[in-house]
Amino acid sequence: MNVGFIGLGTMGAPMARNILAKGHALTVFDVVPTAVAALVAAGARAAATAANVAEASEIVITMLPDAPDVERVALGAEGIVEGLRKGAIYVDMSTIDPATTRKVAAAVRAKGAAMIDSPVGKTADAAVAGTLTLMVGGDAADIARVRPVLDCMGTDFFHCGELGAGQTIKLINNLLATCIAEASIEALVAGTKAGITLDTMMAVFRTTMAWSSQLAVAMPKRPLAGDFSPGFMMKLAHKDCRLALQMAEGLGVTAPVGRAALASLEQGLARGLANDDVGALLKLREESAGVRVRLPQA
Ligand code: NAD
Repeated sequence: MNVGFIGLGTMGAPMARNILAKGHALTVFDVVPTAVAALVAAGARAAATAANVAEASEIVITMLPDAPDVERVALGAEGIVEGLRKGAIYVDMSTIDPATTRKVAAAVRAKGAAMIDSPVGKTADAAVAGTLTLMVGGDAADIARVRPVLDCMGTDFFHCGELGAGQTIKLINNLLATCIAEASIEALVAGTKAGITLDTMMAVFRTTMAWSSQLAVAMPKRPLAGDFSPGFMMKLAHKDCRLALQMAEGLGVTAPVGRAALASLEQGLARGLANDDVGALLKLREESAGVRVRLPQA
């Protein structure tokens, strides 16, 4: 298939490489020239604008930071909608809010094309391995057409409902994951300050309802190993929690724990940790408690 890919960052670059590796023709665009050059070296064609990507493609994919970026790249001057072919499918894989997805989809439909949302779960490592979780919203027939391309990037596929349903579940998933991370950090720092070893805490938690993938996988891999490089940047986690709360509260659902997690992320941004991994939330609690929580080898 002729596939277009826009947004070649931490996630988008390896996702695009996996599409190329499965034999699809790929046209790419990013505002960072070195990101484009790396994909061209791997066999992709460079386009000068997002509209040019769309002109060349049956399927156009975006993997951009935030909702205003998707709006600009899809609806702006030299954007996707400008170049979109009749019968093409636009797949937004960024994490944004479902209201923006529906707004963009209206313009896509007006061009005789279709849109689906397919934000992704897991980490940058899974983007490289092609084993992402895909949370897909949209029409079943449109999804079936893009499934061979989606399967290049992910192994856990979920059709969550109509257009926007993928974004809805992605936002609540990330709010939940961040709340678990923040609560786990608070527990580990409090235990350390009280004189309990990390080893003892992990051994006990592993046997109780306190255990989670954050404690089992994410935290030992990065913050507890002293690695605060992204991964998943704190500014993106902040964006996801902000959008999740906006959506939940818009539905009349109060979320006090989510609000507390957002406040912690805001503290992290104010402390200059925006481009660190979200696991750098650990630094905030360590600094206020005056202790460090690290695995022995860190
Ligand atoms: P990133 O900042 O590393 O990459 C975004 C890319 O988009 C960059 O290369 C940037 O230059 C490009 N871009 C920005 N504006 C553009 C424009 N106007 N035109 C063309 N290109 C433009 O971000 P990322 O970590 O790859 O995340 C992308 C999306 O995936 C975000 O919505 C994020 O929330 C989501 N996500 C990230 C992870 C993760 O672990 N990093 C996991 C799941 C989902």
